[in-house]
Amino acid sequence: MSEASSSLDIAIVGGGINGIMTAWYLADAGHRVQIFERNGMMEATSSASTKLLHGGLRYLENGDFRLIREGLRERSWWMAQAPHLARPIQLILPIHGWTRRPAWMFRLGLGLYGLLAGNRTLGPSRWHERRDILRLQPDLDPGDLRGGFTFWDGQMDDRALGLWATEQIRIKGVKIHEHRMVERVDQTGGLTVHGQRQRFDRVINVAGPWAKALLEASGIASSHHLDLVRGSHLILNRPCSAGILAEVPGERRIAFVLPWKGMTLVGTTEERQTLGDPICVAPNEISYLLAYHNRLMSRSAAPVDIVHSFAGLRPLLFSSNDPTRASREYAIERQGRLITVLGGKWTTSRALGERVAQLAIRND
Ligand SMILES: Cc1cc2nc3c(=O)[nH]c(=O)nc-3n(C[C@H](O)[C@H](O)[C@H](O)COP(=O)(O)OP(=O)(O)OC[C@H]3O[C@@H](n4cnc5c(N)ncnc54)[C@H](O)[C@@H]3O)c2cc1C
Repeated sequence: MSEASSSLDIAIVGGGINGIMTAWYLADAGHRVQIFERNGMMEATSSASTKLLHGGLRYLENGDFRLIREGLRERSWWMAQAPHLARPIQLILPIHGWTRRPAWMFRLGLGLYGLLAGNRTLGPSRWHERRDILRLQPDLDPGDLRGGFTFWDGQMDDRALGLWATEQIRIKGVKIHEHRMVERVDQTGGLTVHGQRQRFDRVINVAGPWAKALLEASGIASSHHLDLVRGSHLILNRPCSAGILAEVPGERRIAFVLPWKGMTLVGTTEERQTLGDPICVAPNEISYLLAYHNRLMSRSAAPVDIVHSFAGLRPLLFSSNDPTRASREYAIERQGRLITVLGGKWTTSRALGERVAQLAIRND
């Protein structure tokens, strides 16, 4: 039987959301799929996100329209599949005297964001006077506040949603090997674990921030450069009545203050690092995030109010020296029987998985 018409043996390296959703499509297409994860499923980048299912309003400035449209389509898919773990969230975009971008720019951006969402919009965006914004979020510091916009996006429990997807792929027959570090891969379908080479019809490297390093360890060149940018978050011991997306004072960067399980999530940062450095929240990031929170909110938070903090490493395709302006697009490379995924947001993992699966089963 030709390869194209038969069921293939496929190995996936990486048990993050992009590996899981790639397995989802390959299993649906009738292939025998195994995932090799060096730690536990959903323990790395995919459970350290800002927990937004979104197109990414701030990526409009980079002109990433394809990716934004894909993200807006995909947030609806996740909310329809697992409404217990993903829900719409109304976000406030406050305009202060110190906000760098003019209000008309946000209005234009929100209009475009709505157009890109099309019939998948979760609700209209609106301008509100200062007193209405303070009614929606009474904890915002009223000083210098001029008014603000509201718009809708999605919020998820990233880890729980990824573990839900893991259960779905188990039901579809995917075999999951946790605590199995892949040492090498090759273009002829080889994959080495504990010094033992196994052979598959396809090997798919979806190791997130570690994807390029796995290629390098295997002596395989890639045409893409991965830019590794750490992002940290704090969880504060206080409720948050409405989510906020706002510029960081004195910068063009956008950060978030969000309701999270009865508490407040503040994030995020952008710090370049290497894979050799530990992925953990640095003291300067704690100060930065607390200063951001305290400038926006009337009740200040101190280190003693932090109940939890976490950091993750964004695997970004290198596109700019400034990580804030770097594109969130992803790339899929095929070299013989080996497919490598570089980059990829949480929200777009289903679409990414579908594309990777189509490329993997193409017989060329
Ligand atoms: C701070 C931050 C905030 C973010 N916020 C959002 C957001 O709000 N919304 C959104 O859509 N996206 C967001 N993202 C992006 C998103 O979280 C990531 O792009 C996505 O989770 C990457 O998933 P992944 O499966 O590719 O990588 P990972 O989740 O890192 O999975 C890769 C897996 O491969 C494993 N692995 C690595 N090497 C090997 C090996 N040799 N052998 C076996 N296993 C190996 C790792 O252990 C890991 O589990 C954010 C990212 C960060 C860092």
